[in-house]
Amino acid sequence: MQASDFTPEEIAAGEALFARPWEFLRSAPSLDTLPGADRPEIAFAGRSNVGKSSLINALVKRRGLARTSNTPGRTQELNFFLTPGVPLYLVDMPGYGFAEAPKDKVEAWTRLVKAYLRGRPTLLRVFLLIDARHGLKKVDLDLMALMDEAAVSYQGVLTKADKVKPQHLAEVVATTRDALAEHPAAFARLIATSSQKGSGVEDLRAEIAALAAAHGVAGV
Ligand code: GDP
Repeated sequence: MQASDFTPEEIAAGEALFARPWEFLRSAPSLDTLPGADRPEIAFAGRSNVGKSSLINALVKRRGLARTSNTPGRTQELNFFLTPGVPLYLVDMPGYGFAEAPKDKVEAWTRLVKAYLRGRPTLLRVFLLIDARHGLKKVDLDLMALMDEAAVSYQGVLTKADKVKPQHLAEVVATTRDALAEHPAAFARLIATSSQKGSGVEDLRAEIAALAAAHGVAGV
């Protein structure tokens, strides 16, 4: 097992932030339905089925939180979560890359995501979830191009690390890290996680707490 990049204090800050009760605030199908940009926010993006709901639920230690907002019809929306006492939003972005997605759905997704990325000054970072079995795919590179263009900072997070053998995981980590390093808007650290085994989740919590604290979010 890889050693954590974080100090015990940073891990403790992450645990404290996610020991709080996180709640679903609202789904936004369009820019004019977003909550006010009155506090920093951190978003999660990834291909559908990448394990995004599972990871959000593992982060907040609430099994049903992301899933309740991921009911059919809501999957094309931005879902906002918050916890009392901490002025920070967590945002579940709509999944992308459905093999059989109709063209108009893809266009609607692109329109919403482009507008969100370009027009949300309070967005601190997007965590880009990548399936450890597959690495970066064309649809991920398309989203990275949008984020590069919008100058939105993003960071890779591998999901389902338990599904691959340690040696393969090391290879995927290296290739993905190298690919991300080509992008100036991409943050250098890549976190490998498994929602099922819990590995890497503490590190992701610590990363989020450190990011929030660096931006002066109260209560972190
Ligand atoms: P989403 O569409 O990105 O929200 O993906 P989900 O969180 O719904 O997960 C998609 C599928 O992958 C489900 O069958 C999950 O049980 C499975 N899954 C998610 N995370 C993990 C993980 O860490 N390990 C394993 N083995 N399976 C996972």
